[in-house]
Amino acid sequence: MANVFDNVLEQIDKISELMKLNDKEIKILSNPKKILEFDVNVKMDNGSKKEFKGYRVQYNNARGPTKGGIRFHPNVSLGEVKSLAFWMALKCAVVNIPYGGAKGGVIVNPKELSQKELERLSRGFVRNVSDHIGPMKDIPAPDVYTNAQIMSWMLDEFEKIKGKHAPGVITGKPIELGGSLARSYSTSMGGAYVLREIVKIREQEPADIKVAIQGFGNAGMNMAKILDNWGYKIVGVSDSKGGIYNKEGLDIAQVINIKSSKKTVTAYDAKKVSNDELLELDVDVLVPAALENQITKQNADNINAEIVLELANGPTTPDADKILFEKGVVVVPDILANAGGVTVSYFEWVQNLYGYYWKEAEVLEKLEEIMVNSFKEVYATQEKYNSNMRNAAYIKAIERILAAEKLRGNI
Ligand code: GLU
Repeated sequence: MANVFDNVLEQIDKISELMKLNDKEIKILSNPKKILEFDVNVKMDNGSKKEFKGYRVQYNNARGPTKGGIRFHPNVSLGEVKSLAFWMALKCAVVNIPYGGAKGGVIVNPKELSQKELERLSRGFVRNVSDHIGPMKDIPAPDVYTNAQIMSWMLDEFEKIKGKHAPGVITGKPIELGGSLARSYSTSMGGAYVLREIVKIREQEPADIKVAIQGFGNAGMNMAKILDNWGYKIVGVSDSKGGIYNKEGLDIAQVINIKSSKKTVTAYDAKKVSNDELLELDVDVLVPAALENQITKQNADNINAEIVLELANGPTTPDADKILFEKGVVVVPDILANAGGVTVSYFEWVQNLYGYYWKEAEVLEKLEEIMVNSFKEVYATQEKYNSNMRNAAYIKAIERILAAEKLRGNI
């Protein structure tokens, strides 16, 4: 598979032309500030020792401490973690929260580990990065195949090493350990607010909108739940084992039950579709909510949706982006569409630093304000440059990052 970071460099190239950036600016955007690469040694339940390759990339910290999740997945690579860290820097800048961008990852299939092994891996990861993370340095969070329990072990390990409480070192924690209300579904909620604004502009009604969602992890599952509650018609969903489709709409509550008992949505009684077929269904809105590089030049022409809302990071390649744009598909880019997650992570961190916790309604109200305003800014920038939302979001984000770099005297 091509290195995903090549896609990032291609994106930077294109945007540099549009924004007329100079070499120094391009260099800052194209290079992560710090790359940590290490082996996490884990004692397995059978007494043997295993090494798992781990990464943490701190891409840019001009606007604040670096921020971004940790992914446990067999396909993790340094190129992927670098790309995800770059997108985090842009994401935090698009919604204007005071963070830079980072990402971490471990090459592992966590589904093959016992809970004890997973705990030892999580603690081992933190031991490798403990001098490089901290509430004012770099703040991890969950990402693909990591969750609140893993954040708890990581927090505990960090606090043991430092000998003090430091809840602001990591977000996406359970409520009992200083997590924020609404964090668990905030990525999807943020995307839903943005979709609602677009639907308003297009003068459509949710009941007339057919949606397909690729991926049924935290982001995809909560998106299905929220949009179903808001009256949209969810006709297709999928997970890593495949997808299901019913043009009349799926019973989402039942799909969620089946996913939790049978571990896959494919156990639900409906027409089976592959993950590739799901992307090409006859729908109005397509929500990629799984991994990167799903919409490529091979299938972009077959996408039937009018709106693609990128809840996953990097689901569309630059070639595919061009094809979708020419077809008139509205692509809501990942760095805006899925920024609700890190926005509530920011609220969690603020609450940790204060030691004062907000009600769920307060969190949602603040999230809604940030998402709607950011969408409006991106939309206005799109009109100004007569371009698409991805370029507009990149322009807004890069302007903010470079302004901070300039003020620090780095440019
Ligand atoms: N992993 C999430 C993302 O890609 C959340 C990051 C965070 O909360 O720091 O946006």
